[in-house]
Amino acid sequence: MMLKKQIFINGIFVDSRSDQYDSILSPATGEVIAQAPACTPEDIDAAVQAAGVAFKTWRHTTPGERSTALLKLADRIEAHAEELAVLETQNVGLPIQFSTHLIEFIVDNIRFFASAARMLQGPVAGEYMAQHNSMLRREPLGVIGSIAPWNFPLAMAVWKIGPAIAAGNTVVLKPSELTPLTALKLAELSVGILPPGVLNIVTGQGTVAGAELVRHPEVKMAALTGSVRAGKSIAREAADSMKKLHLELGGKAPFIVFDDAKLEDAAFWAMAGGFYNSGQDCTAATRIYIQESIYEEFIHKLISFVEGTAVGDPMLPDTLVGPVISEAHLHKIDEMVQRAVNSGCTILTGGKRLDRAGFFYQPTVIAGAQQSDEIIQEEVFGPVITVTPFKTDDEAIQMANDCKYGLASSVWTKNLDRAMRASRELEFGEVWTNAHLSLVSEMPHGGHKMSGYGSDLSVYALEEYTRLKHVMMKFE
Ligand code: NAD
Repeated sequence: MMLKKQIFINGIFVDSRSDQYDSILSPATGEVIAQAPACTPEDIDAAVQAAGVAFKTWRHTTPGERSTALLKLADRIEAHAEELAVLETQNVGLPIQFSTHLIEFIVDNIRFFASAARMLQGPVAGEYMAQHNSMLRREPLGVIGSIAPWNFPLAMAVWKIGPAIAAGNTVVLKPSELTPLTALKLAELSVGILPPGVLNIVTGQGTVAGAELVRHPEVKMAALTGSVRAGKSIAREAADSMKKLHLELGGKAPFIVFDDAKLEDAAFWAMAGGFYNSGQDCTAATRIYIQESIYEEFIHKLISFVEGTAVGDPMLPDTLVGPVISEAHLHKIDEMVQRAVNSGCTILTGGKRLDRAGFFYQPTVIAGAQQSDEIIQEEVFGPVITVTPFKTDDEAIQMANDCKYGLASSVWTKNLDRAMRASRELEFGEVWTNAHLSLVSEMPHGGHKMSGYGSDLSVYALEEYTRLKHVMMKFE
């Protein structure tokens, strides 16, 4: 692998104007595996200009032409799936079995966006005023500034790039400064399929390169997947130019286990949903609420699953939990765990860094937290879950909703009434029954409350990247 990376503008890799580079680490070893430019405002401007020129032609392509290009891109990604999965695992620490599966999902996502491009409709209108014919045009917006996080770098990038390009926009993407490698590889794979300038990739820090992208007057919409902090900052920055926004932010998913649930399944999924990607997942099952009468039995099963989890080298095929992204993030996680203990919580298992190279933290289960505690209310974004008993259904729903985030949630029950009632009452963009983490290309993924607004995936994501125009024609 070439150590010093270039950025991708107008269909080719070029040097950044910057002489500053961000070190890209392998979280499993702590070693530097690449360096990526800390892009300057001039780099961002060059990328936006290229995207602006490309938009003049790309906006007039037919849905069929864009669909064909995206299908070719999906095929090329599929042909490089193994390479991409290894790169993602090296840079993020997501165990290879999950990276491999994720690349398959990404290919499916792009094929879905390719199909959906041909199905986008403005409802055909009619004569709402006598002798005036109305119709709707659904049009692309222009240059989209997309900003991705480090937890699932390629998937999050594709969820932004795919619908934007399918709808006829052009894109400048800034991946996370910690994990730019698969996005740069995607750029390489797009050569010869997407015309120059349709997809551009810049790298660098959020507050410099990211903020500049959001600020740029030629960027018509800013799309972020990231933290609430970054979302607020981007919303403020975008206000001056009245940019459209799409914000997929943090989460703190409740996982409610009722007394009639299949306990074995629920306990397994509390572990799998809580520790997938070391808990660095916006939909991670972080707050486990368990009905009092089954609490002890459930905890026993849960702890045995957690303590049986294979933690270690993410490149090994059986590893289920790898490292967390960085030394700084590991400290943040540990500090939150220590504060929970200091405020009276009990660690049922885990609670320590693993004694090995890299950034490994033990899968951790915490009991005894009060609803108002930081460990219940704030995103840890690490391998840490809480367990809390409840008495009644109403109490469980109330505790689940008592949190600023509203991204994902799940309930575990065999009772249809309970499931239906919970799906009505829970204030989350996603409510699963007897499942957690499951996503499909056809259905929207997006948050309520402080988890943001706008949808990724599904035809609704394509609509996000368009604007409506009413065309009215008078006739005699
Ligand atoms: P982050 O907010 O620190 O960074 C996300 C991206 O935004 C990075 O590319 C960063 O460089 C950029 N950025 C940061 N500040 C910026 C600013 N002021 N202006 C412009 N760009 C800025 O988030 P992260 O730590 O990379 O990712 C973890 C967060 O992402 C968690 O909160 C997680 O819940 C969230 N997330 C949400 C979803 C979802 O679908 N809702 C999916 C994945 C991750």
